[in-house]
Amino acid sequence: MSPKPNRPQHVLVVDRAERLSPHMVRVHLGGPGYDAFLEHADPDRLATTDKYVKLMLPKPGSGLQPPFDLEVLRATMAKSDLPARRTYTVRAVDTVARTIAVDFVVHGTDGLAGPWAAAAQPGDRIALSGPGGGWAPSEDPQVTHVLLGDDSALPAIGASLEAMVPTATGVALVEVAGPADELPLVHPAAVELRWLHRDAAAAEPGTLLLAATRELPRASRPVSVFAHGERAAIKGIRRVLQDDWGLEKADLSLSAYWALGRAEDRFQEEKREPIGVVFAD
Ligand SMILES: Cc1cc2nc3c(=O)[nH]c(=O)nc-3n(C[C@H](O)[C@H](O)[C@H](O)COP(=O)(O)OP(=O)(O)OC[C@H]3O[C@@H](n4cnc5c(N)ncnc54)[C@H](O)[C@@H]3O)c2cc1C
Repeated sequence: MSPKPNRPQHVLVVDRAERLSPHMVRVHLGGPGYDAFLEHADPDRLATTDKYVKLMLPKPGSGLQPPFDLEVLRATMAKSDLPARRTYTVRAVDTVARTIAVDFVVHGTDGLAGPWAAAAQPGDRIALSGPGGGWAPSEDPQVTHVLLGDDSALPAIGASLEAMVPTATGVALVEVAGPADELPLVHPAAVELRWLHRDAAAAEPGTLLLAATRELPRASRPVSVFAHGERAAIKGIRRVLQDDWGLEKADLSLSAYWALGRAEDRFQEEKREPIGVVFAD
């Protein structure tokens, strides 16, 4: 199979990094690449609250520096040595500071993106492409919002809650490691925000989220659901929402953001295999 055509690549520079909680680091990215990123961005994608970028991270020890000439690298390097892509939500765009904020879950020493963010220093450079994205809260007062996610979806859920009209109604369930990982999120008064703490329950990621979803009162249509996080939990949530609640695919923005025990490269490949498929049809 021939490689996908390369998307425009922008190199952004770390302006500053801040630790939001024990397991979350916010990296503010700017520099000359900021203007090019916004200039090339599809305005419809920019308007979504789950907009995301694909970061390109060189393998440690490769000595590669962004920007990457992927055509040349593909012709000269083993696939496993190429810079790896990692997908991250754009939490906010600051048009005054001319930066974008990206919130990274710090999940240990495994992987590329989490450790990169944990060590990020002003002046570090990173290549990215995008944004993609497809969801934003409804402005229709009849619509009930149901937002479900773990820490990886917290940036998108935070951005979505902030963007809601003040009269919006619904519930947001967010699973994090513990109370210190809760972030102060702005949300409409009638959208209940409930935090779930997996460490206290010694629970695998996503299990509390799935259990709490099962306990939710069934929302009647019109409903708009945004549910993203660890793959096994999202598959379980899909069954609750479609099989038990009777919601249609059009009511749901639902996908796996990561999979336990799998790096993103493998996990994205698996989306074409039965294990990686979230929707049954
Ligand atoms: C559209 C989209 C938007 C996303 N937005 C964000 C975002 O804003 N912030 C964010 O942090 N993540 C986000 N993610 C998830 C992120 O892309 C993955 O978590 C990614 O695997 C992290 O890359 P890595 O290099 O750190 O770890 P990888 O090399 O991919 O994985 C290494 C190991 O770490 C484990 N791992 C990966 N992610 C987590 C995690 N969150 N918690 C615990 N263990 C993990 C894997 O199972 C694997 O065992 C998003 C994903 C998608 C598809």
